[in-house]
Amino acid sequence: MLRDIFSKRRKYATITNPSSSTSTEKKEIPEGLMVKCNQCGAISYTKELEKNLKVCSSCGYHFSMNAFERIIATLDDGHFFEYDSEMISVDPLSFPDYPEKVEKDREKTGLNEAVLTGEGTIFGYPVVLGVMDSRFRMGSMGSVVGEKIYLAIEKAMAKKYPFILFSASGGARMQEGVLSLMQMAKTSAALARMSEQKGLFISIMTNPTTGGVSASFASLGDYNLAEPGALIGFAGRRIIEQTIRQELPKDFQTAEFLLQHGQLDMVVNRKEMKNVLGKILSIHSDRGDE
Ligand SMILES: [Zn+2]
Repeated sequence: MLRDIFSKRRKYATITNPSSSTSTEKKEIPEGLMVKCNQCGAISYTKELEKNLKVCSSCGYHFSMNAFERIIATLDDGHFFEYDSEMISVDPLSFPDYPEKVEKDREKTGLNEAVLTGEGTIFGYPVVLGVMDSRFRMGSMGSVVGEKIYLAIEKAMAKKYPFILFSASGGARMQEGVLSLMQMAKTSAALARMSEQKGLFISIMTNPTTGGVSASFASLGDYNLAEPGALIGFAGRRIIEQTIRQELPKDFQTAEFLLQHGQLDMVVNRKEMKNVLGKILSIHSDRGDE
């Protein structure tokens, strides 16, 4: 567990993935040697798929990645110094079964909340990194997710590091009501301050990035990137169709549709993501080796 690693007070720790196939924990990909692609039906070896960053080698479908896998794929040697790892949700509205559900997700995912924040390097460039995990309460944003992202932005400002955030979220967390909605304003205000200080924020939207997360920090990047095929939007398709009484295009709310309509800067294949991030960091760096 992360907690145990960090209690040894090492500055950097190498992230291991508690949900990898060697673990006995519950997996996102069903247990077994083989896995079937959700898009083209091709069968791959689970190990091969993981080696390929969970991108289908037949059709390029991007399977969802958990926060640990994402950090390993993004940071140099998977070295990550985590911030605020002990922060956990309370139950401010006494919402039925909420504490039990959080506890269950904590056991299932090895995470304390739906986002990990911390720092590491990408091709040697130091960054503050946030990674959401859709397995934890659907990656929803409650007070802790908002607060951790807010504190990560503050840290990035203080250290003058770029801030990079991978979103994967169903939106605001209903069990914390208006306190969840408040996180939209809080994180957006922090990013506005960062922007005034000429700080760099790179937002990467992965499947899915919806609701209050898409309507706040995820859309506020100096660079707004997304993974291919990611569902990105505010309200669901059915609600919009019922409201405007029109049928929406098939690819509505996909990363590709949003790129065509100017809401994204780039759709980046996962296997290219680290290189693209490195390129952006080099453009904004005064390291002088590029
Ligand atoms: Zn496929």
